[in-house]
Amino acid sequence: MKMMTLFINGVIAFIFGISGISQDSSILSDNRDRVVTVPILLYHSIIDDSVVDSRYEVSIDNFKKQMEQLSYWGYSTISVKELVDHINKGHTLPPRPVVITFDDGYLDVYSNAFPIMEKYGFTGTVYVVANRLRADGFLQEGELETLLNHGWEIGSHGMTHTELTQNHDLVRQEILQSRLDLEEALGNKVFSFAYPFGSVDWYISHKVYDYGYSAAVGVGKIMQHSFGTVYNLSRREVQGDADLEAFADLLPWSNHFIPAPRRKYLPE
Ligand SMILES: [Zn+2]
Repeated sequence: MKMMTLFINGVIAFIFGISGISQDSSILSDNRDRVVTVPILLYHSIIDDSVVDSRYEVSIDNFKKQMEQLSYWGYSTISVKELVDHINKGHTLPPRPVVITFDDGYLDVYSNAFPIMEKYGFTGTVYVVANRLRADGFLQEGELETLLNHGWEIGSHGMTHTELTQNHDLVRQEILQSRLDLEEALGNKVFSFAYPFGSVDWYISHKVYDYGYSAAVGVGKIMQHSFGTVYNLSRREVQGDADLEAFADLLPWSNHFIPAPRRKYLPE
């Protein structure tokens, strides 16, 4: 996995370098060496405690505690686009930036996660499967527009959530058509793509670039990002059974415990 990531990143850097493909050539000279530490968290569903039974489902109660701790630790949320604008263009980031992403476009992101995050001034990036836009239990245009209006980013998670490395013949439909459909439904540009199942190879990452995306996210452990990783940004999954200590381990700036106040020194 690591070798594959390095290989893909090298190839992407090569293509940008040799062919000079870029919106702005001044981007390359100044920013190619910039490495930034930003945790990108990956969630799926945020649901009632009583029905949590999967690594992909975090209870509302745990999610509340996690957001409260992020706020206490001094984190500010940014979108994937803001992270990439920092890498490519040097845009300023807030202190202790974190990206909070949600895959698959479940309705509970809107009904459960969004109000909790609002309380702390947090925003997220949600990756929607285009053909689920009007399906029960999934986010629809109205909710997505509300999220956009509150500073969220909406990205594509493919047309049908197909594992693309096993289906190269479907890339045009899954990667390009999903972007076009979402942009038409939302009246808003779709900036980034999330690889279904985190599955990516050389061909797929190139197609994401060819089909007009500016970034893509996968799954991994890395928190350092750079120009060479923009088309496979590593995200750390917050699993359903993660307690606060496990959550803290996913983050670069966190205290594992809050020490009790020291006793006052009493002279004898
Ligand atoms: Zn998914």
